[in-house]
Amino acid sequence: MSHTDSWVSILNRLQPTIKKAHFLTWFQNTTILDFVSGDLKIGVPNVYSQNWIASKYDVKVLQAAKEVISDEVQTVSYVVDGALDAGLGVDVKAMFKAKLEKKVRKVRNANEVQVTMPGTGEKVASKILNNRFKLNNFVVGLDNRLPHAACKAVGNTPGGIYNPLYIYGSVGLGKTHLLQAVGNEVLKNFPDMVVQYITAERFVTEVVEAIGKRNMKQFKQKYRNVDCFLIDDVQFFRSKNSSQQEFFHTFNALVEANKQIVLTSDRPPSELDDLDERLKSRFSSGMVVELLLPDFETRLAILQQKCQEYGVMFDPDVLNFVATNVKNSVRELEGILKQVVADIQLFDRLPTIRSVAEIIRRMDKAQEIIGYDLEGVRDQRSVSKNAIDVIEIVAQYYHVTVDELIGKSRQKEIMFPRQICMYLIKNELGHSYGKIGMGFSGRNHTTVMHSCNKTAEKLRTDVRLIRDLNAIKREMGL
Ligand code: ADP
Ligand code: MG
Repeated sequence: MSHTDSWVSILNRLQPTIKKAHFLTWFQNTTILDFVSGDLKIGVPNVYSQNWIASKYDVKVLQAAKEVISDEVQTVSYVVDGALDAGLGVDVKAMFKAKLEKKVRKVRNANEVQVTMPGTGEKVASKILNNRFKLNNFVVGLDNRLPHAACKAVGNTPGGIYNPLYIYGSVGLGKTHLLQAVGNEVLKNFPDMVVQYITAERFVTEVVEAIGKRNMKQFKQKYRNVDCFLIDDVQFFRSKNSSQQEFFHTFNALVEANKQIVLTSDRPPSELDDLDERLKSRFSSGMVVELLLPDFETRLAILQQKCQEYGVMFDPDVLNFVATNVKNSVRELEGILKQVVADIQLFDRLPTIRSVAEIIRRMDKAQEIIGYDLEGVRDQRSVSKNAIDVIEIVAQYYHVTVDELIGKSRQKEIMFPRQICMYLIKNELGHSYGKIGMGFSGRNHTTVMHSCNKTAEKLRTDVRLIRDLNAIKREMGL
């Protein structure tokens, strides 16, 4: 085994026993320099790492070295070697990222559920229904009791009295969650049923494609075989005439066959202007329920539930503060919480009311300024269209927080992803330099321009950057 291989094995053993943030900070760019007469010489890039590792992890390192190399290792010494900064040591951040990606893939796979594809009778893994959305992890308060109960009834008796079920409410209140939860519930109770979830936007695209390719017949067939049809954001059908027609036929065929239909929308049927009157009246012919903004108690309960899901716990005062101050949508509530959780996990920083207030303020400000649309419709299938998506994806990719990305730090590890972020917002979303600058802590438009140009310049030669950028774009659905 080469020195580097041995060191990587040692690091792999150490990593689970050391806090992630510490591990990333202190072991970055370290390596084995030499092993002579029982002494293992570890090269570290600076005195801080030297002091920290020698004082905190000496025993662990020795132990791991004995296991990996041999019992001949008697002592470990740490030598500062400035050259290691240039990347000669082991890149633990990359190592960690690879592990994390593996984990994420695992979680993603677990989220995919079996769905019977219409017309084939075959079970195939589908990304369409997300296992995360269940009826039993939807927090029920006074304001959403009715929609939840209606969904539960549909889950138990599809095609029963609540047909069609029409759920409406403003963005981020849990419509998609409930809709997908109905699908999961139906499949749980009736594993042989064919469940189809689709956004109205996607339906329109499919109609257009089918017309173009002249395979309308196949298209019709696909949807007439469904037992439970879940269609999200039907307000999108407004002014899309041929799609409305097609949907009308599908709808009627399914209802006649006693199949279940559940629809969601951002407004009640009566306010769907530019929608065929016949469709409007069909939409209201079953059960119409409204999802309302959750009250304080429900918001708090939602936060507690999400904390449990993320496996974190923090000061009840902080939770209270968030529930009191973030009240526009559950999605926003979740966004803030994710940010707080990232802070805890990456930096071992426990949230205080002050730090949380700062996060809320920044998110609000960014939303106001670059039209960061925290509440924008963002399901698994639609292409990300707003700045917050880009910022979140870049932050995740480079293991920094959203706060840091839009903040003022001039550390290299943060400036680099920040420049990429600005570049993407400029080139993919077309925001102006000035607007982007404002969103990134009020930077001047020339600073933003400089960042974008610099990234563009690097993109000509830097293969790694190209790869990173492609990966990020894929995440963005581009
Ligand atoms: P909408 O489709 O109405 O825009 P979503 O269903 O996408 O909203 O909900 C946004 C986020 O908030 C999702 O992550 C969802 O799980 C969560 N959420 C909304 N309402 C609740 C609730 N009552 N309990 C738990 N999570 C909720
Ligand atoms: Mg939705």
